[in-house]
Amino acid sequence: MKYPQLREQLVSTCKAMNASGINQGTSGNLSLRTEDGFLITPSGRPYDTMMPEDIVEMGFDGTYDGLRPSSEWRFHRDILKARDDINVVLHCHSIYATTLACHHKSIPSFHYMTGVAGGTDIRCADYATFGTQALSDNALIALKDRLACLLGQHGQISLGKDLASALWLAIEVETLSRIYVQALTLGEPPILSDEEMQRVIAQMQRMSYGLAPDPEGTNDAAKPR
Ligand code: 13P
Ligand code: ZN
Repeated sequence: MKYPQLREQLVSTCKAMNASGINQGTSGNLSLRTEDGFLITPSGRPYDTMMPEDIVEMGFDGTYDGLRPSSEWRFHRDILKARDDINVVLHCHSIYATTLACHHKSIPSFHYMTGVAGGTDIRCADYATFGTQALSDNALIALKDRLACLLGQHGQISLGKDLASALWLAIEVETLSRIYVQALTLGEPPILSDEEMQRVIAQMQRMSYGLAPDPEGTNDAAKPR
């Protein structure tokens, strides 16, 4: 069995998805790039009993070894193929992100943290049947220049360079969605301007926000001892 350590890491991230509350039951799926393809969660298996050997090894041509791969292998494959900045694709039906997705609502820059997905909004992809190439095509459009999107009447996708950052982002997208749903109960909240969001995104990049604790010491107000 190839990639025993990566399989272990995938399983523990799956369990962390459930523990964080962003995933439940048999919904959701997770993939990780390897040197010759990718590892992906099997279809319809609950994460609490998942074992490293249950993780499926796939090639970019759609061939696989082991259990039947996630029904969403197409969007995992297509995102990993299209985006060499990305090594991890995480999909879940987290409650508040899915609530917005049920109304086909994108997340605007009502809060500066919208910038964690890399732009001024987090788009909602058009609806398509789960497990289809059409869904993958719609997801890729919504993910252009972004690290996350909602999937109309379905859920969310968050991307990362590694498992920890994809999980972190998925939780942030869910938190942001929750705040947005709550804010909407008082009416449409005001939106930060594109210029301010450019400043926010530049600040996040300068501070490696969410990725690492300021490795280059670029946060000039505070210095490590
Ligand atoms: P899988 O169990 O096949 O990964 O499907 C779960 C899901 O969320 C489909 O969109
Ligand atoms: Zn799904």
